[in-house]
Amino acid sequence: MKLLEYEAKLIFHNHGINVPKGILVSKDEEILLHLHDIGNQLVLKAQVDVGGRGKAGGVLMADEETAVETARELFSRKIRGLSVTRVLIEERLPIEHEYFVSITLDRASKQPVILFGDTGGVDIEKAARDSADAVRRILVMPLLRNVPAFQMRELLGDAPEELADSINKLYHVFCDKDALLAEINPLVTTPAGVYAADAKLIIDDNSLRRQKIAVNRDLSRREREAEKHGFSYVELGGNIGVIGNGAGLTMSTLDLIDHYHGKAANFLDVGGGADRKRVCYAVKLLSGLESVKVIVVNLLGGITRCDEVAKGIVDAGVSQQVIVRLAGTNEAEGRKILAEHGYKMLDTMEDAVKAAVEMAE
Ligand code: GDP
Ligand code: MN
Repeated sequence: MKLLEYEAKLIFHNHGINVPKGILVSKDEEILLHLHDIGNQLVLKAQVDVGGRGKAGGVLMADEETAVETARELFSRKIRGLSVTRVLIEERLPIEHEYFVSITLDRASKQPVILFGDTGGVDIEKAARDSADAVRRILVMPLLRNVPAFQMRELLGDAPEELADSINKLYHVFCDKDALLAEINPLVTTPAGVYAADAKLIIDDNSLRRQKIAVNRDLSRREREAEKHGFSYVELGGNIGVIGNGAGLTMSTLDLIDHYHGKAANFLDVGGGADRKRVCYAVKLLSGLESVKVIVVNLLGGITRCDEVAKGIVDAGVSQQVIVRLAGTNEAEGRKILAEHGYKMLDTMEDAVKAAVEMAE
């Protein structure tokens, strides 16, 4: 789950990383209450979950006099389509230099990897593209609490040594918070020391319980419901609903939809041994998605029995057309039940997907 900047900064602060003084407001006038705490030169930052926020107009400079009207402007904006409901008002740091530091997992070596760039800021992607050594990387032995000095020197190159402490602390955040990503861009030097001017933290969804995060905000309401039922469910934005059993078969169904130039609305793996109730629930779940015009059910009967599946589909009785491909245990019974209730059952997944794509058009 992605945290917003102000949440990540609070965590960074608790781990000893310097962050600018700031306050979160949800109304422009609220700023007036806090100005004397923050100072005269300000940065106003929309708390929205988008990359390249600064370039999209989500970061504005202001001073005491212009703070309220600047905040009003920010609240009225849409940043890459997202409304601004909260703004972080911060003291403006007198930045000497902007660096980039990012910690993530390197899947190939199964180790944390730390990336560091001498020229951080909003153009880091371009800098990394233009010059092969603009960003250096080191792999960290997972058993170590700190980056060993020789690796830190390799990472920093000619950058000031005083950055090392913040990088180690960010690494502690990464480990302690079960993060998939911990990033500061820009990490800045100022006359008063090193500061995190921005903060990004993504917590591994599998660790939310350990991290005492009750609700995964990155999931839609429907995705949370599905999770409760033990489905693997992801919304994809298209108009063809997909129900499969097993991740492989469900992925193949998505691939086929793409192959026939359709757009899948979702990924939904009902898992093994899906019974009548679960299938009924899955069909209803997709039917409730506004964009869905047709639903493809592609199930292999093993432990799952095709007649149970057929009954589940009939029970759901949704308004959208449901196109079914069932194979395996009790296939003939399943076919019979579906036929009796006017459902289309096709023999191959190619036929089922083709029919669904045509219907969705
Ligand atoms: P992002 O676009 O979402 O990554 O937003 P950032 O928080 O990284 O801010 C974008 C840019 O605004 C930074 O790279 C800085 O150049 C500038 N900026 C942000 N905070 C400050 C600050 O406190 N002082 C100064 N002088 N510039 C800042
Ligand atoms: Mn940034």
